[in-house]
Order: sequence, then C-alpha cells, then structure tokens
Amino acid sequence: MKTRLLLFLVLAVCTVIFNSFKVHNNNTEKPFVVVLDAGHGGHDPGNTGNGFKESDIALKIVLKLGEALEKNTEIKVIYTRKNDVFVELFERGAIANRVDADLFVSVHCDSHHTQAYGAGTFVLGLHANKRNMEVAKKENEVIFLEENYHENYAGYDPNSPESFIGLTLMQEEYLDQSIMLASLVQNNFVNRLKRKDRSVKQAGFIVLHQSYMPSVLIETGFLTNKKEGAYLNSKKGQREMATSIADAILSYKKNIQIATIDSQNPVITQDEIDNAIATVEEKIYDGITFKVQLAASSKKLETKSYNFKGLKDISMEMEGKLYKYYYGGTSNYNEIQLMKAFAQEKGYSSSYIVAFKNGEKLKLSDVINSEEK
Ligand SMILES: [Zn+2]
Repeated sequence: MKTRLLLFLVLAVCTVIFNSFKVHNNNTEKPFVVVLDAGHGGHDPGNTGNGFKESDIALKIVLKLGEALEKNTEIKVIYTRKNDVFVELFERGAIANRVDADLFVSVHCDSHHTQAYGAGTFVLGLHANKRNMEVAKKENEVIFLEENYHENYAGYDPNSPESFIGLTLMQEEYLDQSIMLASLVQNNFVNRLKRKDRSVKQAGFIVLHQSYMPSVLIETGFLTNKKEGAYLNSKKGQREMATSIADAILSYKKNIQIATIDSQNPVITQDEIDNAIATVEEKIYDGITFKVQLAASSKKLETKSYNFKGLKDISMEMEGKLYKYYYGGTSNYNEIQLMKAFAQEKGYSSSYIVAFKNGEKLKLSDVINSEEK
C-alpha cells in the first residue's frame, strides 16, 4: 500500500510539471459557448404592454448582447433565433445542449396589470411565491401555440403549475453557477443602470428546464409600465441592458475560469483520487483532524466547489482578520497527504497540511512526532 501512495505522489508531481507546459497550448481549447435566446417570435409576440412588442425588444437586446460578447475571441455566441421566427420552447434548450454550451441566457420583458416595474433574473426552481409562479406561467403558456406540446412536455400543464414538480430538475446540478451569473446580471442592472431590483428568483420556466448547463432567464423590465416600456423600447435602453448583461457574462466567465483553470482536463480525476483514498493504508491519529489549508484571504468566499477549482469538502474558519479555507477533514494522515497532492495538482501549489485537536490548531510536526516516538 505504501508503494501505491508513493506512486500517486510521483504521478501528482509529474502532473504539476505537465500542467505548467500546457499553458502554451491555449489556442486548442474549446471556446466558451454562450447560447442567447430571445424570447417569443413569429406568431408569438410575447406581451404587448403599451403597444410595445416583447418579441422585438428581446431580439434587439439579444443581438446587441451577442455583438458585445463576440468582441471577445474566446467566446462563441449561438442564437436560438436571429429574426422574427417562432421557435418551440423545448427546441431552445436542445440547441444549447447540441452545441455543448457553457451558458444559456434567455431574455424577456415582463407585464403586469399594475404599474409595477423593475428588472429580475430567474434561475430554474420551484416557484417560491405566487408572483414568481405567475411570471413562469405566462412565459410557459406559449407551449399552447406549439403543435405537439403534449408529446414534447409530457405531463406538464401550464394551467397547473404544480405539475412542474413532476418534471425532473436537470438544472439542480448547475444551480450554484446559475445563481452566480444571475447575481452578476442583477448587480449591473441595479448598481450601474439604477433599475429597480426585483432580485434573483427561482421559478419553473420550461425554457430553462431543458438545458444541461448553467441557465438564467432575464426579465429586463415591464412593458406595461409606461416609463420602463419606453426605456426598453429605446435604442439607449436596449444598448444599456445588453452591455450590462454582456459584462456580467464576462465576469462570470472569469470567475469560473479562475476556479477551474487546472481542472478542465485534469490528469488525475476526482474518481482516481477517491479510489486512491479508499485503498490507501490507514494511519489514524486519534482525536486529530487533518485538513489541507488552501488559502487565507480577507475576502469571504462561499465554500462552494466553484470557488475552489472544483474541490469539494471545503470549510472556512476566521482567524484574526483572515478567512482561512480548508479542504478535507480526516484523522487519517495518509488520506490527507493524497488530498494535499490533489489540491496541488488543481493549482494550489502552496497548500499544506494542518492539524486540529478540539478545534485548536496544532503544529503538524508536533502531532506527527508525538506519535512516532
Ligand atoms: Zn417572455
């Protein structure tokens, strides 16, 4: 068993060296694919508050948004529609799945019988309240205009939003990332454009249900509100909304790539590390918890894997003015050595092992030496 551990450590070191060469090979990497979905179109105009046409406004924002993104050569933009045509809801997500997109962004305008106004961004989930449910219901109703909706949305009835619960939520896996993008979008709407914040919300949008990647649906504002409708119908409004969304997507891309830069094609996979841990000889130190310290920062990060290059089992502790971030937690010293090697392979080259007893940090050498005497 000891040879296995040694072999693994040698492999890990080779990987770190190999990865440092890979940097020169960036041009062969897959582009970051963004699928832009302008809501409605063709015989479905969407809402027509104040005589403004949702399908037109959504398309104009999306085309400007795509133009802004295409300036970045690492990004490839795919549109579900580029003109005034009808595209079925299930087909929109399918387009994104076929091109193996990194993001799916659907753009809409809201309506209400009051003078309600403001911009909101949705991720897929169960309707948390009646208003969210109403928004989803309105956007989902378009399936009645589709010929084979019974077959394409088996078991779903837009008139009974509860039936949504019966559908498998493919999006669950991507919820963290979807919320991250949605927050960045809202942040730009509110802080830059001073739009009223209708915040990041969850609801059961059929169009988000079909895609296998982080996905958001943006309600840019209310056409039924006189002032907001006119703003969204104007060139200025469309340009500003498009730029805000584009910048949010660029920030998202940057965040994700910092977090996963070395785990795109890891030579050692999560499965391999799990297998190695399962087979490694145990070397237990009673009452001690070993962790791998990854980073110390004045910035508070959520302990989600996307913030830590894909590593799971992250914990955080405040020490003085700094937040310390740890990976793993075990009393098996051999296991934590494997985890440290894995963290280093992921890019945390200066990570190291720390030991805790009753929540107190001990010097690692003290712990190891005390047992080996
Ligand atoms: Zn819509």
